[in-house]
Amino acid sequence: MTDKNTGAGTSAARGKDDGDWVAGVRISHPERVLFKPEGIRKIDLARYYEAASERFLEHAQGRPVSLLRCPQGDIAHCFFQKHASDGFPEAIGQVPIRESDGGTENYMVIRDVEGLVAAVQVGTMEFHIWGSTAAELENPTRMVFDLDPDAGLDFADVRKAAVDLRGVLDAVGLKSLAMVTGGKGVHIVVPLDGRAEWSTVKDFAKALAVRLADAAPDRYIATMSKAKRKDRIFIDWLRNERGATAVAPYSVRARKGGPVAVPISWDELKTLKAANGFAINEALERLGGPDPWREAGTWRQSVTKAMVEAVGAS
Ligand code: ATP
Ligand code: MN
Repeated sequence: MTDKNTGAGTSAARGKDDGDWVAGVRISHPERVLFKPEGIRKIDLARYYEAASERFLEHAQGRPVSLLRCPQGDIAHCFFQKHASDGFPEAIGQVPIRESDGGTENYMVIRDVEGLVAAVQVGTMEFHIWGSTAAELENPTRMVFDLDPDAGLDFADVRKAAVDLRGVLDAVGLKSLAMVTGGKGVHIVVPLDGRAEWSTVKDFAKALAVRLADAAPDRYIATMSKAKRKDRIFIDWLRNERGATAVAPYSVRARKGGPVAVPISWDELKTLKAANGFAINEALERLGGPDPWREAGTWRQSVTKAMVEAVGAS
């Protein structure tokens, strides 16, 4: 795509830092190394997101998105950005959203591969998505439980928690998916058809987390308290609120080694050793294989008031 860079002369004349084109976006400082020992450069990150764009967009397209930007190329200097900046490339969509304090702010949405790569160009490493789309803001189309293990726990404990959670969801009639975050935990994702509103989904998520914590207080906790988390897994249901985000499937993480948040099958989870076991290269390889979440494409399910009551009444 270098030929799109017309008017700038030959690549030799431009010098090596004048950019390189990915998905129609000029990447400046393409050779900048983002992950040092691995030598992963900005251009590699842009090419990764281009390659992952189809799968990424299946889950993130049209949702308000927050960006974790590390424009200096250094994962020690990143910031979380919820609102669009002036002068952002047009490829990154903007939607005005009313916030809880009554004001309105411009949020960002990724609509296509160009927007995705344009975000990388401005220093984005991680993408975090809302549970609803900008088109239907009040009706979430995904529910997420974020399993956060206390530092002392093994990944085996996280696996067991994921399977437990899947079991209670199944029991009320909801099918779920698993994703390793690229960090320490697993996200359990429940695709929804958008019939229910935030309040119902949030009440359900809370009741479910509280129920698990009440049944096994030595293993689970449903409140954010770090002090009470000792040797337990926090079942974070708070991702299920209007305005809350969770890391997007296929997002790279700004953590050591450049791990990726990777969707997995329930079968694969049984043998996984860690939540950060897929680096960019492994994630790229998996893109050539089957989509572990493919079966969810035909699921039509909703959180009902009856489910909230069933879970709440312990
Ligand atoms: P891990 O498995 O390591 O916990 P994670 O993606 O679940 O990975 P958390 O630290 O548990 O990471 O973060 C939970 C969620 O909170 C994130 O997915 C993200 O969407 C949101 N989040 C992270 N940083 C911020 C921030 N600075 N402001 C607002 N929300 C954030
Ligand atoms: Mn987490």
